[in-house]
Amino acid sequence: MFKIITLIIAVAVLIFLISSVFISLNENEKHAAYRLLSLSVIFSLLLSVPFIFHFSEFYFAVLSGIFILIILLLIIPVKGKLHKTETPKTQIDERNIMFSRAELIPETERFINYYSEHPENLEKDNKFRKNSGLLQAGTAKYNSLLFALADASFYTVESFKYRVDGKLSETKIPVSPEKITEFIKKYMEFSGAKACGVTELKKYHLYSYGGRGGAYGKKLTNTHKFAIAITVEMSKKMTDTAPAAPTVTESARQYLEVGKLAVQLAAFIRNTGYSARAHIDGNYEVICPLVAKDAGLGEIGRMGLLMTPELGPRVRIAVVTTSLEMIPDNQFQENSVIDFCIQCKKCAVTCPSQAISFSDREKINEVIRWQINQEACYTYWTKSGTDCSKCLQVCPYSHPNNFLHNIVRKGIKNSVIFRKFALTGDDFLYGKKPKAKAFPEFMKIDVNN
Ligand code: SF4
Ligand code: SF4
Repeated sequence: MFKIITLIIAVAVLIFLISSVFISLNENEKHAAYRLLSLSVIFSLLLSVPFIFHFSEFYFAVLSGIFILIILLLIIPVKGKLHKTETPKTQIDERNIMFSRAELIPETERFINYYSEHPENLEKDNKFRKNSGLLQAGTAKYNSLLFALADASFYTVESFKYRVDGKLSETKIPVSPEKITEFIKKYMEFSGAKACGVTELKKYHLYSYGGRGGAYGKKLTNTHKFAIAITVEMSKKMTDTAPAAPTVTESARQYLEVGKLAVQLAAFIRNTGYSARAHIDGNYEVICPLVAKDAGLGEIGRMGLLMTPELGPRVRIAVVTTSLEMIPDNQFQENSVIDFCIQCKKCAVTCPSQAISFSDREKINEVIRWQINQEACYTYWTKSGTDCSKCLQVCPYSHPNNFLHNIVRKGIKNSVIFRKFALTGDDFLYGKKPKAKAFPEFMKIDVNN
């Protein structure tokens, strides 16, 4: 009997390993496919020995016992230490974020005022000012054609700035909060969003003062009651080339996609008679990852980005704030993400600017969390010319949304023991410092840079 149990388990493991080889080949993960194939061969050879040499039933009893024990250890829920997540106690002034500081022009009144109030940032910012800059010639990853393409997407998103808000319809369309919430979520997903969630708008979601364009220095006074967060998927093939040009081409493309959805959704809500404003690239009043977390779309990980359950950080986010009555989602509090991040550190290891902390979460502005060194990160962007995204590429949560990786994601969520297994497995299959992959075929256009 134990011989049959051993055989059934061995065949199941082999089927899993071999299907994983094909899935990896399909994902263009040759290194992982090769290692999985080697594992399958070693596993088959080792297991064939007791069958060929007719080992005793006792031996098979021990072997099947070991297999069952390993499987149970991996699938039985083991919660592990609880890592409390806290909501921010203060608002962020948008003038302090890097995009705002990068827009300051030396010797202008704005520049002088900002650095007289924040002299601690001047030296740090002068470092990125010496570099060529995002999407500029002379940067390490310069690619004239793909930078032109990324710039075209940013240019198109910018044209939406006149459409983030607008006229309200005088007639209100009567619809219940339950029905309109469901309708909006379904329509967003139908239109290409990966996920859509709702939260009550909190003070800490909002920047205190604007930091970009015409909003610079203005106190933000958004009084909407609800916020709708929308995510779209970034292509794995494109982000796998990080920090090369296709990754910024993809970021820009998805800012455009999610911006389009948010602008259309805000206009639709205004057409039903309720005020609504879209918050899209370069035109935010809210901090999108904080809104998306409270809208139930994910958790904030070590690299400071939203970690979604199906795609990890491989998403772009936009938000619509509104006075329309809606049903908020439950806040997301996924302990396993923080616990996995505490052990993983893969983003910190691979970050080319050492901007990501290796330590556990720390108290920053009265809240326990991780915070990246935004100056170091942005300075690297101005050197590479792209938005880097190496952290996003190597994150074990970023793997494609398919059978193999979803089993792993489920295991990570379920058990602290599985988390250790998954981390070792990720290093074994993809490497501790995964390398950038080749450009997608159609992007390998030979241009004279
Ligand atoms: S790479 Fe690892 S440590 Fe970094 S965010 Fe992803 S899971 Fe967390
Ligand atoms: S984008 Fe690049 S430089 Fe910035 S934190 Fe991520 S890996 Fe580091």
